[in-house]
Amino acid sequence: MTCKKIFEVKDLSKSFGKLEVLKNINESIYEAEVVCIIGPSGSGKSTFLRCLNLLEKPTSGKVFFEDVDISDKSIKINKYRQKIGMVFQSFNVFPHLTVLENITLTPVLEKKVSKEDAKNDAFELLKRVGLFDKRDEYPTRLSGGQKQRLAIVRALAMKPDVMLFDEPTSALDPEMVKEVLEVIKDLAKSNMTIVIVTHEMGFAREVSDRILFMDEGIIAEQGTPSEIFDNPQNERTIEFLGKVL
Ligand code: ADP
Ligand code: MG
Repeated sequence: MTCKKIFEVKDLSKSFGKLEVLKNINESIYEAEVVCIIGPSGSGKSTFLRCLNLLEKPTSGKVFFEDVDISDKSIKINKYRQKIGMVFQSFNVFPHLTVLENITLTPVLEKKVSKEDAKNDAFELLKRVGLFDKRDEYPTRLSGGQKQRLAIVRALAMKPDVMLFDEPTSALDPEMVKEVLEVIKDLAKSNMTIVIVTHEMGFAREVSDRILFMDEGIIAEQGTPSEIFDNPQNERTIEFLGKVL
């Protein structure tokens, strides 16, 4: 693993009104790392992830992406956000566009990629996730698992430097969870930098280089999967794992 920092978060705090959701977080994510964020509901996992690409504006503190302070008010965030792919729990696809159009639209519009190149890239991506046969379908004709795989390749089509996933399998029927996790596993093997919030503990153990356990707005404990799952130190980690494992 290299030591290049993809994200560096310094003294990050976020409040919604009086509610302090993130409390002075300091953390870095390194190139090619797979980092899973686990923790109880409401602990600030989504807010933390959304601060990384400035979907949420920090109340205080800074977020650096590849050494650029993207929390600086004068920054044109869209330029950086293109390099940060994000996949949400709800399937983020355009219902009025075909599978293929869903993938080529943004590279053509925002990165000025030629239609031909965008299409060729899309074909490759669709083959990678087993959706090539569905390229001319509309998303309404896809299963939840297929829609989520589409959402993933739609993000990948922008050739991001990092992928953020927020509970990508939580809205799926159980039989479709595996096909989506397989795609993320393959992505992890391809050396993509990944930050993922997940409740899939088996998956987290298998793919992560590092696990962050969040509780009440702080990273209460972190370590390798074996450290966190086999030998947790923090009382809250132990309590949480006792409930979910
Ligand atoms: P998690 O993803 O760990 O479940 P979240 O980051 O979604 O936690 O939320 C942390 C806390 O912040 C929760 O109490 C939630 O209700 C609150 N919260 C999140 N987003 C907003 C918002 N836009 N406005 C007000 N409160 C919010
Ligand atoms: Mg969440």
